[in-house]
Amino acid sequence: MTDGLRAAILAAADAIDAARGELGALDGAAGDGDHGMTMSIGARNVRRRFATLPEDAPDADLVRAAASAMGGVGGAIGPLYAAALGAIAAELDRDTGGEPGIAIARGAAQAAEAAVVRLGHAAVGDKTVLDALHPLAESLRDSEAAGRPRSEALAHAVKAADAGVAETAGMIARIGRASRLGERSRGQPDAGARSFAIIVRALVDWTGQGGVGEDRPA
Ligand SMILES: [Mg+2]
Repeated sequence: MTDGLRAAILAAADAIDAARGELGALDGAAGDGDHGMTMSIGARNVRRRFATLPEDAPDADLVRAAASAMGGVGGAIGPLYAAALGAIAAELDRDTGGEPGIAIARGAAQAAEAAVVRLGHAAVGDKTVLDALHPLAESLRDSEAAGRPRSEALAHAVKAADAGVAETAGMIARIGRASRLGERSRGQPDAGARSFAIIVRALVDWTGQGGVGEDRPA
């Protein structure tokens, strides 16, 4: 699925660029307004790194390249993506090449969540990217346990991430710059959670367009 993953990540980069204004506005309501720009720089860095990789680069190498690209954007979010993507790459390295079911996505989401918690010291409910990532990982765990078909499991996961973003609108930021606003941080979704959900949707939408979206049992 090497060609598939490269194209899917590039589709996510395009989706981030398309949402740059929205993300900036969300971050502007609670922070310094740079989130759209920061993520867009990340998208550009990812494209540049990918252009230097061979056509047949393994998935783990693509993810490591994306990690390195995101690590260069700075802010709070760059290191978080670098850590999460690095953890996903390590997870892919451990993959023994079995049937690509939902287990890979579940393992990736869990590894990303653990890395974000470790580095960001955020908890669920702090109004961060974790409030989209945690429900996504939970949804994939539930789908795997329930044996949901892959396409259905991915559709559930996208909805879970979006629902998590919507919930952040009612939260008070407890971490990062927005936490200084206290009660005034309520009312808008968290920009980092929103950009994460945009990436997830783009990745999943792409797989549904004939890339790696074959329906296999989990
Ligand atoms: Mg910001």
